[in-house]
Formats: sequence, C-alpha cells, structure tokens
Amino acid sequence: MGLVDEREALIDSLIRNQYISKAEVIRAMRKIQRHFFVPDHLKSAAYYDHPLQIGEGQTISAPHMVGIMLERLDLKKGQKVLEVGGGSGYHAALTAEIVGEEGHVYSMERIERLAKRAEANIKRCELDKRVTIVVGDGSCGLKEHAPYDRIFITCASPGIPQPLIDQLKDGGKLLIPSGSIYFQDLILCEKKGKKITKKNYGGCVFVPLIGEHGFH
Ligand code: SAH
Repeated sequence: MGLVDEREALIDSLIRNQYISKAEVIRAMRKIQRHFFVPDHLKSAAYYDHPLQIGEGQTISAPHMVGIMLERLDLKKGQKVLEVGGGSGYHAALTAEIVGEEGHVYSMERIERLAKRAEANIKRCELDKRVTIVVGDGSCGLKEHAPYDRIFITCASPGIPQPLIDQLKDGGKLLIPSGSIYFQDLILCEKKGKKITKKNYGGCVFVPLIGEHGFH
C-alpha cells in the first residue's frame, strides 16, 4: 500500500471508530499529508495511529487525538485561532485548512528548531499565508493578535493559564489537556461574559507545557 492509500485507510478507520464525523474535519484530514510533518526515517509510519518523535524530545500527536481535538473545538470558516505547542505544524495545518482563506492560525512553539521545521512543512502544503508560527512561551498566549475565537493547547498543562482565558473572545472556546505531567483530562472551556463553563472529554497524555503558566 502506498502512502496515499494508507492515509485513506487511516481516515476511514478514524470515521469508523467515531473519532471524527464532521465533513470539514474529514476533508482536512484526507487532504493534509501527515508524512510531510514527520522526520524522513519515520515516513513509512506516518499513517499509523500513533504519536511519533519529531526531535528535541517532542512528538507529533496521534491522528485520533488530533481528530478528537478538531471535532471538539468546533472550528468555523473565518476564525482566528491560537495554538500553543506548534511542534511539527501538522495540527496547525489542519486547523488552517478548516478556517479557510478568511481565517488565520497563530501557532506558538518554544523550540526554535521545531518552529523553523514547522514553517517549512506548512509552506509545502501551501498554507503559509494562513499560518504564522511564533517562537515563544505560549503559556502566556500571544497578546498582540488577541482576542481569539478559538485557542487550543497541544501540551499538558497543570491548569488553565489565565492569560489564555483573558485572550479568548466572549463566546470563544478553548481546549486544553489539563492535569499532571503523566496524565491529563481534555477540557473544553467556553467563555460567556465572566463565566467559564468546562466540559471534560476524557483522558489523554501529552508532552508538558513548559513555561511561566505551565510546568517549570
Ligand atoms: N501540535 C503539534 C504537536 C505538539 S507536541 C503537532 O501537530 O505536531 C507539543 C509541543 O509543545 C512541543 O513541540 C513543545 O516544544 C511545545 N511546547 C511546550 N511548552 C511550550 C510553551 N510554553 N510554548 C510553546 N510551545 C511549547
């Protein structure tokens, strides 16, 4: 089986297992080539439903986890989105595909070498106009482009960083793996005025958010 067939088989299985069901999520996951986002020696494993090492001790998340997060975040065309934990750029590329030409994704990554690689990966998908990778501590958010319609964090956080709540629009949604370094719950927060409602979407395991409002 070639990589294209493998990708189709993976997406079919994510649908069958009910990780993804929204048309726009399915379309984006069929289109974006995960093998662009993994190191050369792991290309043949790009369509396993598994996290993979991307260097610097970091990982690209498993496709089913990316799918769950894309579904729960309830992305719409034209939205401005902040990602914390750019990694390979894969999740940012999928998000950019869904928010479309009118939308924009700001993705923060603390490790410069990964940020550079993510930028190149995204350019290969011709999504560089819709994605801006920013090197820095995303636990403090990215004030200059706030407020955001959606914020998602792809690393484990000890709680919900207040700056991220502050930088969310009224009516906005934020998705974050919150818990210990070893195990987290995927929490969806909705901001309605001063009120934040929270919904728990179950267990997950991410690499740690390291920064001022993360782990130290
Ligand atoms: N979403 C990524 C995978 C993320 S792995 C993808 O699609 O490939 C989590 C990433 O978060 C790692 O690259 C790690 O370096 C980064 N990270 C950890 N703490 C961070 C922080 N405070 N700000 C920005 N990025 C951070």
